[in-house]
Amino acid sequence: ATPTAVMVGTGLGASHGVLIKGGQSLENTHKVNCVVFDKTGTVNAKLLKTMEPQQFYELIAATEVNSEHPLAKAIVEHAKTFWEEGDKSIWPEARDFVSVPGHGVKAMVRDREILIGNKSLMLQHNMNIPEDAENILAQAEKMAQTGILVSFDREVTGVLAISDPLKPGVREVISILKSMKVMSIMVTGDNLGTAESIAKEVGIGTIIAEANPEQKAEKVKDLQALGYTVAMVGDGINDSPALAVADVGMAIGAGTDIAIEAADIVLMKSNLEDVITAIDLSRKTFFRIR
Ligand code: ADP
Ligand code: MG
Repeated sequence: ATPTAVMVGTGLGASHGVLIKGGQSLENTHKVNCVVFDKTGTVNAKLLKTMEPQQFYELIAATEVNSEHPLAKAIVEHAKTFWEEGDKSIWPEARDFVSVPGHGVKAMVRDREILIGNKSLMLQHNMNIPEDAENILAQAEKMAQTGILVSFDREVTGVLAISDPLKPGVREVISILKSMKVMSIMVTGDNLGTAESIAKEVGIGTIIAEANPEQKAEKVKDLQALGYTVAMVGDGINDSPALAVADVGMAIGAGTDIAIEAADIVLMKSNLEDVITAIDLSRKTFFRIR
């Protein structure tokens, strides 16, 4: 394609909210024949077991407000609903906040150690998972929800079930990609049960579950070694290694700054349909003028 065609293509992308960083990104996109989706999306948290809700939510919101993870944002939003307008943004201070990518977060709030995350985060800290918590987790998985454990001072005190209402249209996006001879794969740090129910819902046949950020990147490399030109779609810090190694990294615009930085293309409208827009635009630019 001529430089002019590339400029036109990039400009057209921008007008559709598809931010393409440079001509090379646009060019690579027309060769994409495999899209790896992070299981992305959010929200509405449900508290299934707890102490006094305000006390519980204050501690977890104070912790999660330091995390950029979409799940964290969902949890903080949900916590806010327990306060009257006006005083809801006042969380106690969290000290020693640590994020454990792919597993959860940790901090000290009101002199209590707060851990929020998946089972392996709790196991890493030598905790027992009580049977009722296990049951709630299993139930959440069946309903395609992400079950998150909360512990205070190394004792599991709550489980949050966060459902990930898939944006309408994801199923269609997958099927259109298929018709464009582009394979779709899902990778996620989430457990296999949740991943499977979601994959089934959207029509994705291949899933990689319980993958940490490095394993997500490894998976992309495996696909490349098989000869695929891979686009990775993700939104979190945990996705940035995979976004960086992919032939085309596509960040969801509502995602974290680090993901947006690591990407070649930013989907500003946070709309998965725009994966198609990007591939289409690139194909038009590079097939037309060769
Ligand atoms: P995904 O691939 O679904 O985006 P991640 O790799 O980001 O998942 O995280 C994997 C799991 O780690 C999540 O399903 C969740 O259980 C836990 N986790 C990660 N970050 C957080 C957080 N900020 N708060 C609570 N749990 C978290
Ligand atoms: Mg994610």
